[in-house]
Amino acid sequence: MGAIVTKVQMYLEVIKKKNEDLNIFLHVNENILNEAKVLEGKKIKGALYGVVVAVKSNINVQGMVTNCASHVLENYVAPYDATVIQKLKAADALIIGMVNMDEFAAGGSGENSAFGLTKNPAAPTLIPGGSSSGSAAAVAAGMCDVALGSDTGGSIRTPASHCGVVGMKPSYGAVSRYGLIDLSMSLDQIGPLGKTVGDVAKVLEVIQGVDAQDPTTVSYPFLSEKLKQTTVGILTIKGVAPAIQKLIDARVAAVVKKQRWKTKKVTIDSIDLAVETYYPLVYSEFFSATRRFDGRRYGKQIEEAAGKEVLRRIYGGSEITQAEFAGKYYQKALGVKHVIADSFVEAFEQVDCIVLPTCPGLPWKLGAGTKMPLAEVYAADALTIPANLAGCCAISVPAGEIKGVPVGLQVMCGKGEDEKLLRIAKECEL
Ligand code: GLN
Repeated sequence: MGAIVTKVQMYLEVIKKKNEDLNIFLHVNENILNEAKVLEGKKIKGALYGVVVAVKSNINVQGMVTNCASHVLENYVAPYDATVIQKLKAADALIIGMVNMDEFAAGGSGENSAFGLTKNPAAPTLIPGGSSSGSAAAVAAGMCDVALGSDTGGSIRTPASHCGVVGMKPSYGAVSRYGLIDLSMSLDQIGPLGKTVGDVAKVLEVIQGVDAQDPTTVSYPFLSEKLKQTTVGILTIKGVAPAIQKLIDARVAAVVKKQRWKTKKVTIDSIDLAVETYYPLVYSEFFSATRRFDGRRYGKQIEEAAGKEVLRRIYGGSEITQAEFAGKYYQKALGVKHVIADSFVEAFEQVDCIVLPTCPGLPWKLGAGTKMPLAEVYAADALTIPANLAGCCAISVPAGEIKGVPVGLQVMCGKGEDEKLLRIAKECEL
């Protein structure tokens, strides 16, 4: 038996043993052992030969249940592969199955799935973070090599931070969204999660690039030269728990000293309005994107079958997009989005990257989020949303632990500087 088959068997074994408790996989690829056997015989090997990937349940994988963790699409079997999946398969990666998430990616805790909470393998009484809860948890629990998630306001980076793994949101347009079920099309990006920056980089290299099926895709330049003297921008945002800020400051200081990098404080205009800016955009775009779930084509009507948070966004979105409110919410939010984006462009003229914590607080107790004030739940994304508004690339890398709970360091670079970001992040690994 070859090494790939043995590895796949091991992952299947871990899933069998732990999935009932952790609730990570919604669908396991029954054919994966056969696919692994076929790979073993290949002479010409792709860039991701034998790499085992778990996929968030909002990215279409042909023949697999792609239900967005929602009763609306409960038995929906994808009839085609998303572009990222086509690329993974062409590079000889293996898809092990579809993983849990917040329903339609609406959430940041992993508590909003219609199929139950996902536990955090690194701290099982706490939330794993979301919405790519299953993607981060699958990597942390040793059920796959890497995973794909999607990030609209932090959904890759937040669970990566809480579960102690690496998760990257590519620049807007770097990766095709064709076959991703939208939360907010002007902000969504698919990205990789893995144990190391190197693993994540390998996946990004394969999935990135222009796609005729997604007109927002761009080809960003490949920087082949090494990192020069790096200036690290230090961004401080209000509302971070002191213990987290302290850990991140110490971690940044250690990296900067070791690498002999320089630091410079940066500020971003209107960054305190990021959360208030993000939600009108998401509510409006999500409302519009969900009109197709009218019960005629895809399973059930969304208003009949969706959970509380999804309905909140649909009803909220339908309200604020009414003609009489033209210019009041969506347009205003777009205006602030541009102020924030422009300010990041200016900041990146002075610094190579910006560092800050990934999350303002530690993960809360599993289930507690449903009882917390909504503003508090939404505020948990205050540090990740800015990268989405600005279209920048950003990554969360493990920075240490507080009482055994993982804490992530977030590194951001300018739009299109994904490769530079990965190089910097590699030096920031513990
Ligand atoms: N937590 C944020 C939200 O609920 C981010 C979601 C995401 O990035 N998909 O919208």
